[in-house]
Amino acid sequence: MTFDPESWDSFREYAHRSIDIAINHLATIRQRPVWQAPPSRAASQIPLHGEALDSVLEEFERTILPYGGGNIHPGFMGWVQGAGTPIGLIAELMCATMNANCGGRHHAAIGVELEVTEWMRSFFSFPEGVRGIFTTGASQANFLAVLIARVHAIGVATRAHGYDAHTSGLTAYASKEVHGCVSRAMELAGVGSDFLRLIGTDEYYKIDLVELAETVERDRAAGLKPFLLIGNAGSVNTGSIDPLAALSQFAKSQGMYFHVDAALGAFAMADTDLAGRFEGIQHADSIAFDFHKWAHVPYDAGFLLSRSADLHDATFASEASYLSRASRGLAAGDWWPTDSGPDLSRGFRALKAWFTLKTYGFEAIGENIRYNCNCAMHLADRIAAEDSLALAAPVSLNIVCFGFIGENAAERNRRVVELLHEDGQFAPSLTFLNGHPVVRAAIMNHRTLKSDMDGFIDRLIMLDASYGQDEGSR
Ligand SMILES: *Cc1c(COP(=O)(O)O)cnc(C)c1O
Repeated sequence: MTFDPESWDSFREYAHRSIDIAINHLATIRQRPVWQAPPSRAASQIPLHGEALDSVLEEFERTILPYGGGNIHPGFMGWVQGAGTPIGLIAELMCATMNANCGGRHHAAIGVELEVTEWMRSFFSFPEGVRGIFTTGASQANFLAVLIARVHAIGVATRAHGYDAHTSGLTAYASKEVHGCVSRAMELAGVGSDFLRLIGTDEYYKIDLVELAETVERDRAAGLKPFLLIGNAGSVNTGSIDPLAALSQFAKSQGMYFHVDAALGAFAMADTDLAGRFEGIQHADSIAFDFHKWAHVPYDAGFLLSRSADLHDATFASEASYLSRASRGLAAGDWWPTDSGPDLSRGFRALKAWFTLKTYGFEAIGENIRYNCNCAMHLADRIAAEDSLALAAPVSLNIVCFGFIGENAAERNRRVVELLHEDGQFAPSLTFLNGHPVVRAAIMNHRTLKSDMDGFIDRLIMLDASYGQDEGSR
C-alpha cells in the first residue's frame, strides 16, 4: 500500500482546487476581519479511518482558514510578525514536494542553505569564514549564541563537564529593552537569568553606556566574569537601535563576546537610508535575525550568523557512527548542519528564504520597510495632532507607542485595544513602557497603506467615545 493516489489526475484536480482556495483567501484578505474568535474544537475521535480529501478540505475552509492570528491582514499591527507573501505559498509547496531532511548529506538543500548564508554574510559585511544556520526563530538563534559565547569564554570542555553558574560566575549584559527570549536563553543555557544584567536606557530607549561600564566594573570587582554583551538592532517595544559601534568596541576592550539581536531590524539595512543606523553591526561576533519578520518569509525561518565557523561548530559538532561521513556519494558533503546546531532532522527553511529573496530582491524588501516606517511617521503625526492622544516613546523605525492623556488613561488604553480587536478592522497591542500600559502599533505588513493609519486612529477614537456613551447610558 502506498499513500500516493490511485489516480494522479484526480489528485491534480484537488491540488488545483486547494491552490484556488489559498489564492482566493489572499486576494480577498482586506475584506475579512483582521481577527475573529475561532470556533471551539470539540474533542473529536481519533481518525482511525481515513476520510475523503474533499470533506477534510471543506472542514479546513469552514473551521480553520478564516480564524487566523491576523498577521497576514493589512490591519494587523499588534506584534512584530511577518505577513507572508504569495511567493511563500509556492515555496512551501516546493518544500513539501522535496521533503528534504536538512541535517546533512550531499544534496541540493544543503547548498541552498550555504548560498543564503553567503548572501547574508555579504549583506552584513562580515568577512569570509562565517557559519550560518536556519533556526525556528530568533529565540532559538539567541539561545545558540549564548551557548557559543559560553564556549568562547570557558572552552569546549564545558560541553562535557557541564557548568556551575555560581562557581563560574559568567555574566551577560543587555539593555532592559532586550527581548524576553534572551533571559530565557540564559536559563536554557544553564548560565542563569540571574546573571543577565539589564542596563538602563536613555530617552530613545538605547542602552546607557555609562551604566553599562559601571556595572561591568562592579561585577568584575565582585569576582564575576563578564562574558557576553548583547545589542538590540530594533528592540521589540519601540524599535530602538543600540549604539552598536560603541558596544562592539566596549565588548572588545573587555574581552566579551558581542552578539546582536536583529530579529526585527535586520532587513531595514536593505534600505540605504536606514542602513547607517546599524553601523557597527558588521563587527558583531554573531547576529540573530528572522526571515519570517520583515522579509516576510513564511513561518518559521530564523537565522544565526556567526563570525567564526570554527567557534560556532566547536559548540555543537559531535561524532556519531550512524552519521559517518563518506568522501563521496550521498553520505558525503563538506558541511552537515547538524554540526552547527541542536537539531538532526530539519526542514528546508532555506528554500523559503531563497524563493522570497530571489523573487522580490533585497531592494524591494528595503522599499517596503521604508514605506512601513513612513506609515509609522504618519501615524505619529496623526497622534500628535489629536488633543486626546500623545506619543509614549519616540518613533525609531516602525513601532509607534502612544495612548490617551488625562484621567483614566491607563484603563482607556487597555480597553481600546480590546475593543479594536473585537471590532475586527485593526489589531494593535498593549505594551508597558516604564510600567505604564500603552497602545503599540508595529507597522510591518507589506499590505498596510498610509490611509490605514488614518482609518486606525479614526476607529480608535470612535470606539473609545462610543464605549463612554454606552457606559453613561447604563
Ligand atoms: C521577535 C523577536 C524575538 C524572538 O524571535 P522569534 O522569531 O519570535 O523567536 C527576539 N528579539 C526581538 C527583538 C524580536 O522582535
